[in-house]
Amino acid sequence: MTMQRETVDVLTIGAGGGAYPAAFRLAKAGLSVVMTDPKGVMSGNCLYEGCVPSKAIRETGEILEGQRRFANLGLSGQVQVDYPRMVAHKDAIQARRYAQHAEELATCPNLRLISGSARFIDPHTVAVATGEGERRFHCRHIIVASGAEVFVPPIPGAEHCLTSHDLYKPDPTLKLLPERMVVIGGGYIGLETASFFAAFGTRVVLLQKGPQILSGMDPSMVATLLPLLNANIEMILNADVERIEAMGSGRLVHYRQGGVAQQVEGDVALMAVGRHPAIPAGTAEIGIEIGKHGIIVGPSLQTRFPHIYAVGDVNGQVPLFHAAVRQSLVAAHNILGGDRALDYADFHHVPTTIFTLPGAAYIGLTATQAAAQGIEVITGAYDFSEDSRAQILEAMGGGIRLFFAPGSLRLLGGWIVGIDAGQLIGEIGLAVGNGLTAYDLAAFADQHPMSAEGIGKAARSIF
Ligand code: ADP
Repeated sequence: MTMQRETVDVLTIGAGGGAYPAAFRLAKAGLSVVMTDPKGVMSGNCLYEGCVPSKAIRETGEILEGQRRFANLGLSGQVQVDYPRMVAHKDAIQARRYAQHAEELATCPNLRLISGSARFIDPHTVAVATGEGERRFHCRHIIVASGAEVFVPPIPGAEHCLTSHDLYKPDPTLKLLPERMVVIGGGYIGLETASFFAAFGTRVVLLQKGPQILSGMDPSMVATLLPLLNANIEMILNADVERIEAMGSGRLVHYRQGGVAQQVEGDVALMAVGRHPAIPAGTAEIGIEIGKHGIIVGPSLQTRFPHIYAVGDVNGQVPLFHAAVRQSLVAAHNILGGDRALDYADFHHVPTTIFTLPGAAYIGLTATQAAAQGIEVITGAYDFSEDSRAQILEAMGGGIRLFFAPGSLRLLGGWIVGIDAGQLIGEIGLAVGNGLTAYDLAAFADQHPMSAEGIGKAARSIF
């Protein structure tokens, strides 16, 4: 029996940030579009177990840390987090956003979301395993936006660890606040989570394999951030985790440091050693190239098949939601252009925020990267110790660094550690992306007394 194939203009594998912006744009342009996702809902891992739920938890920590800073003004007694109620708040936000997305979907007649996992049959055919059996689609264009998943390394006892999935998914596995938590991995997810739980009063031990927390990020930014984090976090560097053991309801994590066997105990252990791309079945078999970080694409986001695009976390370039959204639109524009490269993704100018308490954020070229590439930069600096808003909020740690090209004084990049970092990086990013110079930033009268005025002050510091 030959299986029936339905023809569609565009099929997306996944319905997250890499998929739905393109899906809506293309459907509104009159193309027939099918999104597929085993979750059966839009917005991918960002809303399911990533950005949104983790920040719902984070902001409670931010309020708690702020309240502690104000305690010496007599504003409060001891405020404690009611963990189950905070989780209920997180769950409610997720439910509300899912409902909102369902409404958006219902307004778009050319667009359907099919609940199921997709796999490639050939470069124009995708099979979707749904609850009612397999459906096959002949697709003129395909956008692979299957995202990334938590990577669990093959360490004995790894199954005794929680992952970010268990903390942040709707109705999460972790329901009670642990007294002690061992975090395996000093990347941004591990450090953020350590920081939130430390704010709630959990004693956290964070084990990092190498010599640097947030390895790969600007060392001077990291060195500015770490002393500002909650003292409930103990960081152990060069710790090679060898085995995780369940001990009653707790976890014993065995690691080796400088050849010496050590162990640390927690009520829970969190595995946070990274994420890896979720490559749909059949991808390699039909001849799409897969590299170390994900599906290989050029800046037009086309694979070696011009009608097959790979956008977002699955190409491993900049695995962040907002980067996926922009890439999604690039793919949509190139599909509208007949699979010719009309639009390009800029992987170099994407804001990245580490949402610790306080946070850190960066964009573009930093001084350390510039030095490594032999590029000279002029650094503008501003410390929050002199900032009126930071003083008002008793949050004076950290500051802003801006890196300018000598001569043109064009802004090449920058970082922020401390107050409002995740907000301020947007303004710096817009300046970098639009080729603004130190003159432009210095001349702009930014809102007083808000932290953004520090950007102009950092620019003025070089004159
Ligand atoms: P991005 O931000 O890059 O779009 P996300 O991880 O947020 O990435 O979303 C990717 C979505 O793709 C997830 O919701 C995941 O369930 C879905 N997905 C993963 N593999 C497949 C597959 N084979 N078929 C359909 N959807 C998939």
